[in-house]
Amino acid sequence: MSAEMIWTLTEHVCRHCNIGRILVRGAVHRCSVCGESVTGGIDTLCGCGIGGRKRAFQCRPNPLPMPSNPAEFVIMFVGGDQQTADSSADAPAPRCTGTATLF
Ligand SMILES: [Zn+2]
Ligand SMILES: [Zn+2]
Repeated sequence: MSAEMIWTLTEHVCRHCNIGRILVRGAVHRCSVCGESVTGGIDTLCGCGIGGRKRAFQCRPNPLPMPSNPAEFVIMFVGGDQQTADSSADAPAPRCTGTATLF
C-alpha cells in the first residue's frame, strides 16, 4: 500500500477535452478522461493556463450544471483584463522628523 500510487482528484478541468477532471499524483497531472498528462505545473494542462499570463480562463465549480454539461467543474471565462489597482499617486510618505531634545 503506497500512497504514491494514489491519484488525487483536483478541482481543475482538462483543457484538451474540456470535460475531464485532472488527477494529481506527485508531480504528475493527468486528465481522467482523455489521458493527457504533464509533469509539473497543473496550469499547462488545466484551463487556468489558457490565455497565458492574463489568466482569462479558470477552472471553477459549474454554476449551472445541465444535461449538456453536467460536469462538476468547468473552465470559465473570467475576464483576465484585471487592471492593476496601482494608480495610487506617489504621495510623500509622512516622515518622522526626529526632534528629540537633548535636555
Ligand atoms: Zn482531457
Ligand atoms: Zn485549473
